[in-house]
Amino acid sequence: MSLPFTQGKLQGKERKNALQSVQEQAKAAARAAIRPVLQGFLETEVCAKLGREKGEARHISSQPREIDWQCGHCGCQDANQFTRDGHYRRGLSTGWEHLSDLRVPMLECQQCQHDVVTQFTILEKYKRFWMDLDQDVLFGSGFCESLRHLQERWSATIEGSVGLRTLNEWINQIEALASRVHTEPITDVPPVIQLDGIWVTIQSQHEKIKPDKPHRQRKKRSGKKIVVLVALGFWANGSREVLDWQIARSEDHQEWELLVQRLWERGCRPEQGLQLVVRDGSGGLGEALALQWMEQAAAIYKATTGSSARTLLVQWGKQWREQAPQSVATLERDFEQTLVFYALSGLTLEWIRTTSLLERTNRELRHKFCQVVTFGSHKGAEVAVYLQVQRLHARWSGESWWDTSHALYFELRNLHA
Ligand SMILES: [Zn+2]
Repeated sequence: MSLPFTQGKLQGKERKNALQSVQEQAKAAARAAIRPVLQGFLETEVCAKLGREKGEARHISSQPREIDWQCGHCGCQDANQFTRDGHYRRGLSTGWEHLSDLRVPMLECQQCQHDVVTQFTILEKYKRFWMDLDQDVLFGSGFCESLRHLQERWSATIEGSVGLRTLNEWINQIEALASRVHTEPITDVPPVIQLDGIWVTIQSQHEKIKPDKPHRQRKKRSGKKIVVLVALGFWANGSREVLDWQIARSEDHQEWELLVQRLWERGCRPEQGLQLVVRDGSGGLGEALALQWMEQAAAIYKATTGSSARTLLVQWGKQWREQAPQSVATLERDFEQTLVFYALSGLTLEWIRTTSLLERTNRELRHKFCQVVTFGSHKGAEVAVYLQVQRLHARWSGESWWDTSHALYFELRNLHA
């Protein structure tokens, strides 16, 4: 390494050249190290499968050595019948560079002389990109990076071109993780659930946004409004979690009911520990709740001071109904929700009153979901909401999004395994 050091401080162009030179040499050193690591791992895996080192003789007379690789022709799975048969070269785009000729070991079946179908732990068949890309798309999408943005970074990294389609396909795969959230049983049922509708404007990823020019009217963005219906769980120890969500066109009864029904089926019931449902006051939700929970929870209210509150309401209603029918109707309607507060044990009630957690969480959700403005399809929207929820969960539990998003890659791999 030769750098043009002088007695004085390097400045301007010289300084820039020095820094760039170091950066390039560091990159080159890292690149040179990648290939042997990957190839070394592939060779090690072959040794482990075959149960013998390179050059070691086969144990033909011994017991069959059954492995999970098999001959593509005769179906043989006995590793004692397999021999090393050179390498093929394949390309693999990693986060360091594109490796154009990675040497992948091949095996031959001695029963029929055909190829053994190998599945290496670190490689996926026909996949040009290594997991670096998938992890980066998860990480970047969580920060609402556009596909085009990710595409540019990856094209620069591998010094080639990355198709938007490749990125989009991977994004769509993440939906499997989102749908798992909607179906998993909830075993640790929170005492408090808050239901909330968060309106966001979505914009198609494929829409071309032209830069503004002077004296030219700004192109009106054709945003579409959708609402994310969210169920948040709160536990007495202060922990919280987004339990489920439903992307809808409106806050109609039916849309809410889908979400509430799902929560119910997943285990959120009074007999499992649910004590209180807080709502944001929109119309449709009350009905859906009445359908599912209120009836069940009514038994709890009766045992508390809520019953005397109800008596007061009835008396008040009788007195004022003729003069102010609208007000009475409104209060009676809202009272069912108010009444729920009486059902709580002292501790939880105190917690609800003194904490600003509900409001704070609400603000965080709004902020996160409003960032999600660039997804074209329902699938894309599901994934975007899912990633924002995971980001919030990571923050609430003190994890970094870097670690969490990278771990999601493995969760997704496990789902498909
Ligand atoms: Zn065979």
